[in-house]
Amino acid sequence: MGDDKVKAEALQLIGMFQVLPRLVVFDLDYTIWPFYCECRSKREMPSLYPHARGILHAFKEKGIDVAIASRSPTPDIANTFLEKLGIKLMFVAQEIFSSWTHKTDHFQRIHSRTGVPYNSMLFFDDENRNIQAVSKMGVTSILVHNGVNLGALRQGLTDYSQNVNTSEKNKQRWRTKFSKNSTSSEKNEH
Ligand SMILES: [Mg+2]
Repeated sequence: MGDDKVKAEALQLIGMFQVLPRLVVFDLDYTIWPFYCECRSKREMPSLYPHARGILHAFKEKGIDVAIASRSPTPDIANTFLEKLGIKLMFVAQEIFSSWTHKTDHFQRIHSRTGVPYNSMLFFDDENRNIQAVSKMGVTSILVHNGVNLGALRQGLTDYSQNVNTSEKNKQRWRTKFSKNSTSSEKNEH
């Protein structure tokens, strides 16, 4: 499937959801491209996973920002590859640095740079430990197995809207509980 076909399908998928993330964050190695960039040379011409470019362009067209969170120890190679692929300027935040934490510090930086709350973000990564750590911050996090593709996109958008609905329901439950309590305490006073 060509980039335009993927983009069209991604746009159709995104159009099916009423609640959408404000920011979508991507890992690099084995999420948008099928290799560890630390094992490659800057002189090489990299390639993306087949659906990655179409999905990135679909988000941009819908006005949804995209960002990078990578623990790559070679940000210089990663940046060269992003430039060569012509996608570097698409990202509103690029946090590429090795870290002992499982990307929680990457997300803190992305949050302070963009002002987007964690529960308005969607994240794709191929490592379960990153998914575990970042989802605890409130970010909807999707484990990808063969890089980001239309299947992962559908999963991500579905999980995101479910998470938003669940937290809305919880808020309503608290509001109802609070208003009941205040009513009963008013009654006690009379
Ligand atoms: Mg990775």
